[in-house]
Amino acid sequence: MTGSANSNGASSFVLDGHDVSWALTSDHLAWQESVRSFCADVVAPEAAVRSIERRLDPEMLTAVGRLGAYGLLAPSRFGGGEADLRSLCLAAEEVAFVDSSLAVTVHVQAISVALLAHLAKGRDDLLAEILPSACAGSTFISFGLTEPTGGSDAGNIRTHARRDRDDWVINGSKQFITNSGTPFSKYVILFAATGEPVRGRPPVSAFLVPLDAPGVTVGEAYPKTGWKSSDTHPLFFDEVRLPATALLGTEGRGYREALRFLTWARLPIAAMSTGLARGCLADVLRFLEDRESFGKPLGEHQGVAFQVAEIASFASAARVMTYDGAWKYDQGMPIEREAAIAKLIASEAANKAAYIATQIEGGYGFIEESAAARHYQDARILTIGEGTSEVQKMLIARSLGLGV
Ligand SMILES: Cc1cc2nc3c(=O)[nH]c(=O)nc-3n(C[C@H](O)[C@H](O)[C@H](O)COP(=O)(O)OP(=O)(O)OC[C@H]3O[C@@H](n4cnc5c(N)ncnc54)[C@H](O)[C@@H]3O)c2cc1C
Repeated sequence: MTGSANSNGASSFVLDGHDVSWALTSDHLAWQESVRSFCADVVAPEAAVRSIERRLDPEMLTAVGRLGAYGLLAPSRFGGGEADLRSLCLAAEEVAFVDSSLAVTVHVQAISVALLAHLAKGRDDLLAEILPSACAGSTFISFGLTEPTGGSDAGNIRTHARRDRDDWVINGSKQFITNSGTPFSKYVILFAATGEPVRGRPPVSAFLVPLDAPGVTVGEAYPKTGWKSSDTHPLFFDEVRLPATALLGTEGRGYREALRFLTWARLPIAAMSTGLARGCLADVLRFLEDRESFGKPLGEHQGVAFQVAEIASFASAARVMTYDGAWKYDQGMPIEREAAIAKLIASEAANKAAYIATQIEGGYGFIEESAAARHYQDARILTIGEGTSEVQKMLIARSLGLGV
C-alpha cells in the first residue's frame, strides 16, 4: 500500500500493483499507470455528476476507445491489442476505482468484441468489417442472453430462431442488456433457441443481430439503482429476418461455445469489485483527514480505524484472488472454480466495503455527490450481474462434486 498527495492536498491511498507483483509484469504496471492517469484526468472529475444525471458521455466513450481498452483481447490485425486477461482486469479495476458505470460499459464491450472474434473465427470479411470500429469504440456490440423469465437459469431460453429457406426469423425478447442503446450501439450477440427442447433444454445458437434490422426494438432505458450512467435496455424481436450468415459458431451450440469461452469473464467483474473497494478506502481516508469527533480526529477512534482496516483487507483479498485467477488463465490453466470464487468473494467484499464506507462518512455518505454513496449504489449489482452469488456457489459446489 502506498500513500500520495492528490491535487487537493488530500492524501489519496491506493493499493498499487505491488500487492500482486508476482502476477504483473512491468508492461502490466505501465498499462495500469496509463489507465490510472486517464481515469484521474478524464473520468473522475465528472463521475458523480454523470451518475446523478444518469448521463452517458459519448466523448468519453470515444476517448476510452483511443486508450485501447475495448479491443484488449481482440487480434491485432483487426485493431485489437492482443493483450492478456490481466490487462483487461487492470483496466476494469482502475476504471471502477472512480466510475463503475464506465467500468461495466468497457467490460461488456471488451467481452463482446472478444466473443465475436472467437465465434466468427475464420470469417475474416465479417471481422474486418466490424472489429476495427468496435475496438475504436465507434461500434458497440452488446451481449444478449438474459430474458424476462430469468437470468440465472440462462440456458432456458424462450427467444427462438426458425429457419425460413436460407433465412433465420427471430422472435422473443431480452432483458437488462448493457450498451444496447448508446449512440454507438449497432449489434447484439443474441442467444436464441434453434430447435425443440431435449431434456427440458433447447439447443441454443448465437446470432449477430444488427440493432437497426426491421423488427428489432430497443426499449426504454431502465432507471437503475446503480451503474446509473451506464446504458441498459430491453430488446424486442418481432419476426426479425436475417440472412444465414447471421449465425455465429455452430448451430445449436452457440450458447455452450460462448459459455466455455467466457469462463474468464467473471474475473473482470471481480476486478471491478476490487476497484470499487479501493475507491471506498480512498474516499474514507480522504474524509477522515479533516473530520473530528469527541475532541479528536475521527480516524483515531479505534472503532472507526478498525473498520477502515477491514475495507483495506477486503480490497486486498479481492485483488489477490482476481489476479491469481487472471494469471492462471493467462498461463493456460483451468479457472472455472477460481473465477467463480474470485467473483463471489470480491463482489461480496465490495458490498461490505461500500456499506462500511458510507457508515463512516455518516450523513455525507448518503449524499449522492460523495464517492462513497455512489460506490454503495454501484456495489449492489456486483453480486447479481454476470451470475449471482448463488450461481457462483452452485458452480463452486458442482466443482466439488456436489449435485446441486
Ligand atoms: C444493470 C444490469 C446490467 C445487465 N447487463 C446484462 C447484459 O449486458 N447481458 C445480459 O445477458 N444480461 C445482463 N444482465 C442480467 C444479469 O446477468 C441478471 O440479472 C442476473 O444473471 C440474474 O438474473 P435475474 O435477474 O433474472 O434473476 P433470477 O435468475 O430470476 O434470480 C433471482 C434470485 O434467485 C436466485 N436463484 C435463482 N436460481 C437459484 C437456485 N437454483 N438456487 C439458489 N438461488 C437461486 C438468484 O441468485 C437471485 O438471487 C444485467 C443486469 C443488470 C441489472
